[in-house]
Amino acid sequence: MSNTHQQPQRAVIDFGDEMPVNTVQAPVLKGDGPSHERPLYFISLGSGSSGNCAYVGTDDGGILVDAGVDPEVVWKQLARHGITPLMVQGVILTHDHQDHVRYVYTLVRKNKHIGIYCTRRLMTGLLRRSRISRRVQDYMHPIYIETPFKLADFAITAFTTSHDGTDNMGFEIALDGRTLVVATDMGTITPRAEFYMSRANYLMIESNYDHDMLWNGHYPEMLKHRVSGDQGHLDNMVAAEFVASHYHRGLSHVWLCHLSADNNTPDIARAAMVGRLEAIGLTVGDGSHSPEHRDRDIQVYALPRFEASTLFILT
Ligand SMILES: [Zn+2]
Ligand SMILES: [Zn+2]
Repeated sequence: MSNTHQQPQRAVIDFGDEMPVNTVQAPVLKGDGPSHERPLYFISLGSGSSGNCAYVGTDDGGILVDAGVDPEVVWKQLARHGITPLMVQGVILTHDHQDHVRYVYTLVRKNKHIGIYCTRRLMTGLLRRSRISRRVQDYMHPIYIETPFKLADFAITAFTTSHDGTDNMGFEIALDGRTLVVATDMGTITPRAEFYMSRANYLMIESNYDHDMLWNGHYPEMLKHRVSGDQGHLDNMVAAEFVASHYHRGLSHVWLCHLSADNNTPDIARAAMVGRLEAIGLTVGDGSHSPEHRDRDIQVYALPRFEASTLFILT
């Protein structure tokens, strides 16, 4: 019971030891729309079963979402944009799977000012599933589902998601009336998740697998059922259908996250989303600030699995 992190079916999709050092230099982009509010910065440091971590910040500092990427890689990438460890005030955790929490103790042990914001149940699960030091609890600030809390410049609200961790949640991260929503690792979109996701201005949504690639692929039958089940991961087409059916003019950016290495590609995931959005008459940009793309109705960008994404400056 105590070694549940060794489950064989998880070993098939976790490639944590193979994470390469980031080498891609991403251009700095400017956001869309009028610059009447504080800029919001977003950068993904890794996305997928090999490791998840993203930075969300303002000029005053920010937060990390999940700690599944080696902090040395995180700091190196953030330093390119002038973001230092001291500017990071906390890490929020979506659930206790290794690809989201593997480095959380390393992160806080070396940066004692960084608090871990998660539910007590998630922390209990983390200690049970991992070989992590129990001292990780000393850094915990308990949070409660759908009870907003303040961290850095943000008002953050956790909401329950449908997945097979001990406690699973997405986050609404609000600044100046705008919201960035993180919705990863979910087998289906429940009504409470829908509530938060549907009002996002910037939406990071899981687009894990292509249906045909999964079912024609090499995964064992049991794993195919786990991935596609209600507590597994999100189908490209389900993500695309969700965004198309909940589109509003305030939604400017969609980041596709947690793409499977085996059952998806960035092109296939993006094409599913773009195709569905174009079908309802929207023009879709590639997330760059090029003259050709920046004024389109909505930007869709597939987050890289191993490399850092572009730094998005959202205004
Ligand atoms: Zn995951
Ligand atoms: Zn997970």
